[in-house]
Amino acid sequence: MTPAAAKPTSAEAATSAPAATPPATAPPPAANPTTVGPAPGPRLLEGGPIAATIRASVAEDVADFKRRFGFTPTLAVVLVGRDAPSAVYLQQILRTCARVGIEGRLVEIPGRVSAAALRRQIGHLNADPLVSGIIVQMPLPKRIPLSTVIDTIDPAKDVDGIHPFNAGLMTLGYEGFLPATAQAAVEILKRSGIPLEGRRAVVVGRSNVVGKPAAILLMREHATVTVCHSRTADLARHTREAEILVVAAGHPGLVTGAMLSPGVVVVDVGINVVPAGKGAPADNGAQADAAGGTRLVGDVDFASARDVVAAITPVPGGVGPVTNALLLTHLLRAARQQQRRSPAPLRRIG
Ligand code: NAD
Repeated sequence: MTPAAAKPTSAEAATSAPAATPPATAPPPAANPTTVGPAPGPRLLEGGPIAATIRASVAEDVADFKRRFGFTPTLAVVLVGRDAPSAVYLQQILRTCARVGIEGRLVEIPGRVSAAALRRQIGHLNADPLVSGIIVQMPLPKRIPLSTVIDTIDPAKDVDGIHPFNAGLMTLGYEGFLPATAQAAVEILKRSGIPLEGRRAVVVGRSNVVGKPAAILLMREHATVTVCHSRTADLARHTREAEILVVAAGHPGLVTGAMLSPGVVVVDVGINVVPAGKGAPADNGAQADAAGGTRLVGDVDFASARDVVAAITPVPGGVGPVTNALLLTHLLRAARQQQRRSPAPLRRIG
């Protein structure tokens, strides 16, 4: 149950590698007046290259794990009901598992399942020695309280950091399993060379899986953090104060350029499916799904934000890929810890 103070794996070391690129706040090169072409946009903080680096390290660690322990660690991904966007997201995770040599096991549970039966199913996964980590796709069917999952999942297999034990470790600055999306939001900033210490960071959203942990992790990096939520009065007053803005509200276009100060660095965590033709223009990397006539957009209105921000994560292709890659580093850490004969002592890291 107790997260071990294991030696960092190469994948974990990769998650805290020094900045590879100059800060987004560096002055842009002077424009050449004779050059004809599209107006220069903001720096795009792409998640793809960061995720690729993390995956490469995980793949090495997985190979090493298999040599040492003679089995392939498994991530169980639990899908309750047939929520189409969830199914797509889980397929992405399963593909990412396959790319690094981790076994991804999709556990599909009918949407009509009772809370007690779901608890039993998670109990089976807790007890399965081949399963090193478990994630349960949200949202659950409305009838099933979230606590059914949160209270049942073994903290030692809770690789997305939803159990109160892991949340407590994070809050108090101990090593545990961090919520991967919140970690990805901060990791993108760190690995893009964006200074955080002493800067004014604003987080829009206070959910337990994204907003709240993102705020805690930014504090860990010594930013001065304001958290906004659905009952915040005058959201724009706060967002305009931000030097670093993390938005995780689940509302397409909630934050517009008029709500930002010039030079802000924005991490757009939102993933929203909107009809094609609505939302941000395709130059933020958003892709239309021709068949369904839908597209993915973030919570930030890219079209109006692009001329104000210094840097911004694209949607899709920003936080998402890094989230999946980090999840696999957690899975491998869980697998290693479970091979220890005795739990390691708690380790403070923040
Ligand atoms: P949630 O619904 O649990 O929480 C949303 C939060 O936003 C709440 O705290 C709410 O108070 C706040 N909020 C809502 N409307 C607001 C408003 N008008 N002004 C200010 N605050 C407002 O959602 P979540 O699970 O935290 O996810 C947030 C977004 O992040 C969603 O779009 C989700 O799809 C996306 N997400 C992305 C990833 C990824 O890997 N990129 C992972 C998880 C979630």
